[in-house]
Amino acid sequence: MQTPRLEIDLAKIHHNTQTLVELFGSRGIGVMGITKVVLGNHQVAKVMVRAGINLIGDSRIENIRKMLKAGVDAKFALIRTPAVSKAEEVVKYADMSLNSELAVVRRLSHFAERLKKIHEVVLMVELGDLREGMPPDELEDTVHEMLSLPGIKLAGIGTNLACYSGVRPDKQKMEELSSLARSVEDKFSIALDVVSGGNSSNFEWFYEEDEVGRINNLRLGESIFLGCETLNRKPIRGLFPDVVTFVTEVIESKIKDSVPSGDICQDAFGKVPSFEDRGRIRRVILGAGRQDVLVPGLTPLSDVDILGSSSDHIILDARKEQLEVGDEVRFRLNYGALLAAMTSPYVERTFLPL
Ligand SMILES: *Cc1c(COP(=O)(O)O)cnc(C)c1O
Repeated sequence: MQTPRLEIDLAKIHHNTQTLVELFGSRGIGVMGITKVVLGNHQVAKVMVRAGINLIGDSRIENIRKMLKAGVDAKFALIRTPAVSKAEEVVKYADMSLNSELAVVRRLSHFAERLKKIHEVVLMVELGDLREGMPPDELEDTVHEMLSLPGIKLAGIGTNLACYSGVRPDKQKMEELSSLARSVEDKFSIALDVVSGGNSSNFEWFYEEDEVGRINNLRLGESIFLGCETLNRKPIRGLFPDVVTFVTEVIESKIKDSVPSGDICQDAFGKVPSFEDRGRIRRVILGAGRQDVLVPGLTPLSDVDILGSSSDHIILDARKEQLEVGDEVRFRLNYGALLAAMTSPYVERTFLPL
């Protein structure tokens, strides 16, 4: 089999998805399955649907289009607030989008009317993380304007925390979102279908609070693929942490010094490196590097140490492992490493079947 490659275990994705759908569902919270980290892979999306997901969210309209074409049977939401220039495609391919700019919603309305579609909009509210979302005091006016736009249905409101600034989605933030939902409903005499409280970082809030209020949706990616919450990256009990494995191959294995010889200047990335003297060691070179993966996001699954990397190489201290040329070395990945490896054109993907 080719290396480097990602091995993606579809049975584990099924298990993690089903477990989370049941857990959150038990208290009235629906899960939007987020596929952006697997670039909208249709096999993964189909497994998520089989595990109980009926709403799939992705940040890229290209990915949504791909999934539609592959026959993924779900409703699709664009979760990165759309660009004006993509409004037509968004209406064409996505059933729903998250939005924070009225100018964009107007364009969505224009195309929805033209394409004779109803496009659902979730208005994003900024609650402290300072990425997307309107200040809460803009919400009423925005809703007021939106309700008169043809082709647009106000599906609900949402917020996103712990992504850019790491702000915790705690009881107070979630109560704030609930109360905004209630006040919009009261003021305009409408019912909001969706009150979307956040992402995988909301696990702790869900676990610790008795009341979920009006929150009835979470958008989950990382907890499905890495089996953890994302405030402290603690494993979630009952989920597989090892859905995806990065597999590399030894291209050189030799006993060498651990400290270089000669005058040390900048390395290939403009840093002056420093070295720990481990004496003479078995230095193993793997045929994968920074063009393939985010190396600091890798954790070896055998007893070896990553010493460093360059564009095309990862260098290991093999310690007591007998690694020969042609042997495979396997790693767990964090979110950044998974994202980089999925996005690299050099990394193969193999799927372990359901
Ligand atoms: C990526 C993303 C998510 C999913 O986040 P995870 O931490 O992977 O669960 C949810 N909402 C938005 C807006 C996102 O961009």
